[in-house]
Amino acid sequence: MISREKLIELLEERSPARVRALLDTADRTRAYAVGESVHLRALIEISNVCRRNCLYCGLRAANRHLPRYRMADREIVEAVLSAAARGRRTVVLQSGEDSALTAPRVARMIRRIKDAADVAVTLSLGEYPRDDYFQMREAGADRYLLKHETVDPDLYKSLHPGMSFERRIRCLVWLKEAGFQAGSGMMVGLPGQSAATLADDIIFLRRLDADMAGIGPFIPHPHTPLKHSSPGGADLCLKAVALTRLALPFAHIPATTALATLCPNGTERALKAGADVIMPLATPEKYRRLYEIYPDRSPSSDSGPDSVIELVRRLGRTVSRDYGHTAPRLNLLAPFDISAYKRALQRCPL
Ligand code: SAM
Ligand code: SF4
Repeated sequence: MISREKLIELLEERSPARVRALLDTADRTRAYAVGESVHLRALIEISNVCRRNCLYCGLRAANRHLPRYRMADREIVEAVLSAAARGRRTVVLQSGEDSALTAPRVARMIRRIKDAADVAVTLSLGEYPRDDYFQMREAGADRYLLKHETVDPDLYKSLHPGMSFERRIRCLVWLKEAGFQAGSGMMVGLPGQSAATLADDIIFLRRLDADMAGIGPFIPHPHTPLKHSSPGGADLCLKAVALTRLALPFAHIPATTALATLCPNGTERALKAGADVIMPLATPEKYRRLYEIYPDRSPSSDSGPDSVIELVRRLGRTVSRDYGHTAPRLNLLAPFDISAYKRALQRCPL
């Protein structure tokens, strides 16, 4: 169990030898807890339309420079089939918060996908009412990613106009109640974030008992209010990945595209620091440049000599052939009291 103070100390650690020891410990923990398999989850970005205005994101509604697209159901199923034909056993459907993606439509889409291909389905479509999540789960979706982004309620408020931190947490609780394998996570290096905030993010992921934890650096986008902010640091991000692995040994943790974008060997470094998932891009070619969360994305490819499959082999790991579900565990959430959580967060040792 790592205390909050120790987490802060390790996030602030600068000695190369001590940082190396931390990353190696996380790597060994990953090997022991989830093994040598690397799960490839095919990422299909089904719409870049978003009604929100998160200050950091290029898809925000106020960005008028971005041409918008929505994939038709037929295109989505085709992209899923093509990913399945390449051996992917999970597809991740991600989008902006698009009001055209109503729960009945998403449920219909999930049924079509499940009829057409032998894949697990992860959704990453943002916030919905409780009943909508249940509808999507009943249609057969397996997992849902909803990053909490930052656990500091004031920072959350300043970055997310018109949104509420409490609502975000409530959505995560609903996702768990609906029976999803639920993923959350944070950005590293957000303006106004401190090592203490990041430590609290890791404690939050642990308390949520997240099945998946996505941790990537913030990268400024030129058509957002944060265009002049500095990007998050790769080293800090790797330390956060490693500490999250220590806090959640059995979780699935991706080597994020944002880290790969920030540094050329980011995927390899994350895989050696506790990560066990890669999300190769399976969005149709014509839409890829339009899903511009941040500029110059460096998405992973699962074919060709530079593919992540080659990387996985080079590292002596294996590409998973199964769905990569998390094993059912005790749900630590029920009953979940947000104000008690907030009080506990101030002093909670892991
Ligand atoms: N709209 C959904 C949501 O917000 O949950 C899913 C899509 S959203 C584009 C997926 C993730 O992109 C967010 O959770 C956020 O962490 C990440 N993201 C957005 N803008 C970013 C930026 N400028 N740098 C790094 N990550 C960013
Ligand atoms: Fe929309 Fe998600 Fe981007 Fe926020 S992070 S603007 S909800 S796509």
